[in-house]
Amino acid sequence: MDKKIKVIPCSGIGKVFGLLARESVLKTVLELCPEKSETICLAYIVSGDEAVNEKIAKTRCITVDGCPKMCASKNVALAGGIVIEEIKVLDTVKEHKGKNFGSATHLDADGEVVVNEIAEKIAIIINEIN
Ligand code: SF4
Repeated sequence: MDKKIKVIPCSGIGKVFGLLARESVLKTVLELCPEKSETICLAYIVSGDEAVNEKIAKTRCITVDGCPKMCASKNVALAGGIVIEEIKVLDTVKEHKGKNFGSATHLDADGEVVVNEIAEKIAIIINEIN
């Protein structure tokens, strides 16, 4: 079995919460836990590609979603991934009420703070289980 945990963000476009999800995942897999984790593009999973389905099936996954629609979590589960943790960007955003996180294409300093907090939460989970 592929040991690397798959950390998969939703594809939220047009709102800062999607950008927060994607940046948090990149921070995790590229900087905090590059040996233990990797990411896969959600659109690739949703397209039903055989190679990616094989990669994700019965594999431990952490999903990061930008809104209650939970697109990443739902589609990873549909593809056969084992969702061991559903990270909700809004849970961390709520702890920073009134702050300006940026836009759909650019994070402000408070957005970076949220990204770091989410990435650290994911890294703790990864290090606990792997
Ligand atoms: S979870 Fe929300 S923000 Fe993310 S892709 Fe789905 S609808 Fe868009």
